[in-house]
Amino acid sequence: MITIAKNIEQLSSRIQRLEHQYERSAASVKLLAVSKRHPVESIIAANKAGIEDFGENYLQEALDKIQHLSSIRVNWHFIGPIQSNKTKAIAENFQWVHSIDRLKIAQRLSGQRESSAAKLNVCVQVKISQEANKSGVELGEAEALCDSIEALPNIQLRGLMAIPAAEPDPNSQRIAFRALAQEYFRLKPRYTQLDTLSMGMSNDFEAAIAEGSTLIRVGTGIFGPRS
Ligand SMILES: *Cc1c(COP(=O)(O)O)cnc(C)c1O
Repeated sequence: MITIAKNIEQLSSRIQRLEHQYERSAASVKLLAVSKRHPVESIIAANKAGIEDFGENYLQEALDKIQHLSSIRVNWHFIGPIQSNKTKAIAENFQWVHSIDRLKIAQRLSGQRESSAAKLNVCVQVKISQEANKSGVELGEAEALCDSIEALPNIQLRGLMAIPAAEPDPNSQRIAFRALAQEYFRLKPRYTQLDTLSMGMSNDFEAAIAEGSTLIRVGTGIFGPRS
């Protein structure tokens, strides 16, 4: 638990240094703690160390944690692949969804979100590495999906998200992130609430920050290796 607090403190100062180094405004990069396959005790420790946003990939695991932690105020982000039969529980229990890759899922989430609740914040997931098994819309299809999402009543388009192929070379990491960032900055003036560029994980967040990321999703770097 002490390690989690220490990891968060070190990460936060590293983010501050990177914001400065890459001429980003102070506090322009948010830290999302990816808690999948880590126990609720670790989430509590991270929350005590100042983290308010947690990312989960597996619905049942997430629902158990959300129920268990209902007394603490945190924002839950769904960041994993979404099957149609899971949208209702996601619409009812999360504040954010980063992994929208088709209109049908967006329509179901909007239809199943209580209209009296705050809108569900969503990002469109874009494929920026040509790996057959990576989900996400093609870069050229992102705009059309964003337009369709804008018309839905109970979800709010907030940004774009990508998971590029694992790549050890920082320059190649930056080239992949740049493709998403260019699309984000091109679309930003069109959508009033577009403020989130969700890119960067434990092994590539420096490159993501250099290219304009506003939200990095870090699991291992906070909680250690997953079981
Ligand atoms: C697991 C996961 C992360 C965190 O990965 P780490 O390498 O542990 O930081 C970030 N984003 C998504 C979508 C993930 O599935």
